[in-house]
Amino acid sequence: NAEASAAGAAVGFDEGWYGAALGAFFAMTVLMFVIVNFFISAPYGRHVRRGWGFGVAVREAWIIMESPALFVMALVYHTGQFHSLHVPHILLRLHQMHYIHRTLIFPFRMRADGKAMPVSVVAAGFLFNVFNSYLQARWISHYGTYPTPWLSSPQFLLGALLFFGGFAGNIWADNVLLNLRSDKEDRSYKIPRGFLYEYVSCPNYFCEVVEWLGWAIMTNSLAGFAFFVATLANLGPRAKAHHQWYYKKFSDYPRSRKALTPFIY
Ligand code: NDP
Repeated sequence: NAEASAAGAAVGFDEGWYGAALGAFFAMTVLMFVIVNFFISAPYGRHVRRGWGFGVAVREAWIIMESPALFVMALVYHTGQFHSLHVPHILLRLHQMHYIHRTLIFPFRMRADGKAMPVSVVAAGFLFNVFNSYLQARWISHYGTYPTPWLSSPQFLLGALLFFGGFAGNIWADNVLLNLRSDKEDRSYKIPRGFLYEYVSCPNYFCEVVEWLGWAIMTNSLAGFAFFVATLANLGPRAKAHHQWYYKKFSDYPRSRKALTPFIY
């Protein structure tokens, strides 16, 4: 219906700063893709290397890096003209659902005792999350218009399906990896198996990409689309790097698997 189809339309998109920020975010995404795809995998996890600054304990690193998605998102959201409306509120809660897990639950489940992440990666992740959270929050509570009927529109429902499916799949896939290690000090790598792992090396990344595609569809916004593209630009090359790493590490690694997307790539 007409009201629902108005969702995501701009209210005052003429405020130049927000448009410029979105443009800068897309430009940053292109730059990041070129670097991580053609030059260097982000130096953490199995791709960690010396020379990227002092090490921050992995658990603390994840909490610091992801925390802006909780506090910047909440602060900016509440400055928006539509912050008390129903649909923006639901979008905020969905975003928080993902980031409460990523920031406050996932780091405590990692088997990462004694492992460190270079401070430059932590800083880059932190700044990315500040920037991205500002874009998402500002859109959903200030520039986007989301009348209540948007919740029952086919577009919102499709987006929500992808978002929840991606969220659940991402947690499942991370769980498989976390359970490959016997205890918190175990640093070994094994071949993950079962369900989506029979098709791709990195179903956790695949599901994360699907989740933010769902967000882009649900929010019907350039901001949401920018987040989806940035996730793909970051995790696509990383999935390729993981995939190649598995081939080198394990001579019996299943040849039929793709890197990120079943049957495709
Ligand atoms: P990885 O798949 O590299 O690792 C996830 C965890 O599992 C790590 O603790 C890792 O240990 C461990 N692990 C991975 N593979 C194996 C294996 N074969 N055997 C034993 N243990 C293994 O994911 P990331 O650390 O890059 O990302 C973690 C989560 O964050 C993912 O869900 C990802 O989707 C999300 N993320 C989202 C981003 C976005 O742009 N939205 C960006 C980056 C991550 P170790 O660290 O020691 O390798």
